[in-house]
Amino acid sequence: MRPVETVEAAIGLGSNLDDPARQVQQAFEALDALPDTRLRARSRLYRSRPQGPQDQPDFVNACALIETALAPAALLDALQEIERQQGRVRQRRWGERVIDLDLLLYGDRVIDTPRLMVPHPWLHRRDFVLVPLAEIAPGWTIPGVGTVREALARLDEYYLSEETP
Ligand code: AMP
Repeated sequence: MRPVETVEAAIGLGSNLDDPARQVQQAFEALDALPDTRLRARSRLYRSRPQGPQDQPDFVNACALIETALAPAALLDALQEIERQQGRVRQRRWGERVIDLDLLLYGDRVIDTPRLMVPHPWLHRRDFVLVPLAEIAPGWTIPGVGTVREALARLDEYYLSEETP
């Protein structure tokens, strides 16, 4: 017998429809209820202006740390199933959504497949991801970038140097 190996993963949560704070809380609970997964930490909820189209409500954003035995692809399946169960309908890019769950970090793994990129490519360029993540995991190293704390300190540089919607 071998013990089950678990990994810490960071999940970004966002909502701007249908009582966003409740949607985010519900998604925290859904993460804790996933098979072979435990919710380790949840950030406070943050309000942010929408990226992209401005004719939509403000977002509520947060981050969660989970410990999971799910492989990355299975975890992404599970996140998309939570989105589906909370009634997410895919709409315009950068547009409004009932709930959005992004796999930000999976241990120290770098994954680059058509379906899944980890670290999440926008992670170090967005205050609404880095601020809540820094609250619960400031020392976590983002492969290729540095710690979450360092990325937050350099956000202006990253933000200005990258294409934005
Ligand atoms: P979104 O509209 O932000 O929910 O993007 C969803 C799409 O991004 C899905 O088709 C995923 O396959 C893809 N994707 C790639 N990398 C990630 C990631 N790290 N977390 C979540 N979705 C991802």
